This record gives sequence, structure tokens and C-alpha cells, in this order.
Amino acid sequence: MTKTIVPLVDLSHQQIQINDLIREGFNRVIAESSFIMGPQVGEFEEAWARYCGVPFAMGVGNGTDAIEFALRAAGAGPGTEVVLPANTFVATAGAVQRCGARVVLADCNDHFLIDSAQAADRVTAKTKAVIGVHLYGQPAAVEELRSAVPPDVAVVEDMAQAQGATRNGVRAGALGDVAATSFYPGKNLGAYGDAGAVMSIRQEFAERVRRLRNHGGINRYEHLEVGFNSRLDTLQAVVLNAKLALLDQWNSQRVEAAIRYQQLLDDLEMMTLPKAAIGNGHVFHLYVVRVPDRDRVVRELNAAGIGAGIHYPSPVHLLPAYAHLGHQKGDFPTAEEQSAEIMSLPLFPGITAGQQEQVADCLRRVLGA
Ligand SMILES: *Cc1c(COP(=O)(O)O)cnc(C)c1O
Repeated sequence: MTKTIVPLVDLSHQQIQINDLIREGFNRVIAESSFIMGPQVGEFEEAWARYCGVPFAMGVGNGTDAIEFALRAAGAGPGTEVVLPANTFVATAGAVQRCGARVVLADCNDHFLIDSAQAADRVTAKTKAVIGVHLYGQPAAVEELRSAVPPDVAVVEDMAQAQGATRNGVRAGALGDVAATSFYPGKNLGAYGDAGAVMSIRQEFAERVRRLRNHGGINRYEHLEVGFNSRLDTLQAVVLNAKLALLDQWNSQRVEAAIRYQQLLDDLEMMTLPKAAIGNGHVFHLYVVRVPDRDRVVRELNAAGIGAGIHYPSPVHLLPAYAHLGHQKGDFPTAEEQSAEIMSLPLFPGITAGQQEQVADCLRRVLGA
């Protein structure tokens, strides 16, 4: 096995800073046996809503459920359609499919984000929602989507990769009608297991999500609809409360690391480095470059102990799970071109200048530069 020299992600720097606080918090939950919907859940929901700048945040079991619940709140279901970008993590499409709506794809722009004009073109009388996925750490142009689609179509944010990102000074989560996030451990704000949340400016959406996550009821044994079991664990809320206090600091470290890569790699002509779109505060969940002959480059970096990754090797329409949509190669040319060339370089809070220099040196060697 190759020795890892620089991993793609290393969470240990974050864990060290909060270890004691989390142990104390876990001990309290265990002492009180408040594993389900303990007080730490509400505490986190309040702090997270305040952080995002929305009146309502509801903790749920994971990010995929969060997207599904946001869509259901927006009225998506059998006989309806939801528009989303062709280049995203598959969970965005999975959530649409699971609520019974039809997956309708739109191509991406140069920033790997949904093309607003194309998204608007795909809207029909059946469309209930358009999802802007804030991929890699910067927000989709939600205000463009808002003005391009009819007012009764909800604009939904999938901000699983963009906690703390801003667009025109507004935080992700507060840009659309309703937003969903994941706290999967590797996200910018990550739990110690699965977790997620739905954020909204609309009270009726918030009430619907609170029912959906808890067997369709608000009060015990009073079930208004068929719901799910998808609550945020109290133990995960302890982790999220501790980490939220450090999110801005960690995001700044990500931005600093991105600036350092820019300085180290700027002269490599064959490689395209990521840029923030105008108005965006990028939080670099992933540092995604474009490079020709990508598969070879990733293979050789990995062989040299550098953790390069691909997010994602196939756009949604070319995945076997979505063959039923009836698309073929060429239908979303920008997403296809991007998926053939994208490569994620190691980036995480605590990555050192030395590690980044090792990544850059190895890249130069592999690219023959
Ligand atoms: C991680 C992620 C999800 C899914 O979140 P889970 O918590 O793993 O269900 C959805 N969308 C995007 C863009 C993601 O990165």
C-alpha cells in the first residue's frame, strides 16, 4: 500500500480543538439519557438558524432526508417536477425521486453551478421547485433563479457543501424559500455520524418539516400525516454546538489554503483553478481544478501518496440509477466536459503550507511542468 503523504481530508485538526468539550457534552447526555430530542437539539437549531440568518432551522437525520423534507414542504410529490443541476452529488436527485417527483435536469455554468436560464427553460406547469446546489462551497445564483421562475415555484438550496458561504452578503440557507444541509462528518460543519437540517424563512414550511421528521406528528401520538423517523440525535447536536463556534475560523483557514494553492499553481497553464463567482463568499468545501488527462493525473498523484479525488466522475444523467430519465451523452455538455476534467486537491482546516507545497511539487512532476 502507498503511504499517504497528504490526505484529501484530515479531520484530526478539528477534533483536537473540541475533544474535551464534546466528551463533557456526551457525558451529560448519557447521564440524562436524553438521546432523542434532548435540549441540545433545540439549542443547536436556534444557534444554527441565527448563524444562517433565518427564523427556522429543524435538525433531521441526514442531508438527503433534509432535501426530501424541504421538497415535500414545497409541494413536490407524485405528478410534479423538480429542476436540479446535472452535476451534483447523487443525493440531490435521490431526494427528488424519493418524494415521488420527476427529476428534471439542467446544465451547469463555468462555476459548476446550475445555469439559471436553462433551469428556467425546464420549468413547466408541473414544476414545484428548482434546486440550486451550492457545489464545492459557493452559492448558486439563487436570486437569478428566483426571478427566472414563477413565484409559485419554490427555490430550494442544497447547501450541504456551503455552510457559512455568502452571496451578496447573505448567508447560504437564507437565500431561497427553503434550504437543506448535511452535517456528514467531512462537510465544513460536520457531526460524528449522519445528521442534517432544513432551514426556512417560511413558518408553514418549518411546521411541515417538524412533522415529517417525527412520524408525521408534533405532539406525541397525534399524527396528522404519514411521516418518517429522521430526527437529529442529541449526541450529534453536542458535536455541532461545539463545532459551530469554530466554523468561521475553519472556513477562513480553507480560504487561506485556497489562496495558497492559487499562488503555488497559477503558472500551470494546462490547469484551470477554481474561482468564486462575482458576489460569492466561497468556503472551499472542495478545491476543484480542471486538468486534461485527469484519470492519469489522479492515479499518479494517489500512487505518490497525494489524496486527489473526483467529485463527481459522472453527471446524474449518465448514472445507471437515472437511466430511466432517458438521457444520453451530449444532453448536458458542460456538466459532461467538467466531470471528465475535475479533480479535488487536499484541502482542510489545518493543512500546512508544507503539505500544500508537496501537493504542488507532485502535480508539477506528474504534469511534466
Ligand atoms: C453530502 C451531500 C448530500 C447528502 O447528504 P447526506 O447527509 O450524506 O445524506 C446532498 N447534497 C450534496 C451536494 C452533498 O454534498
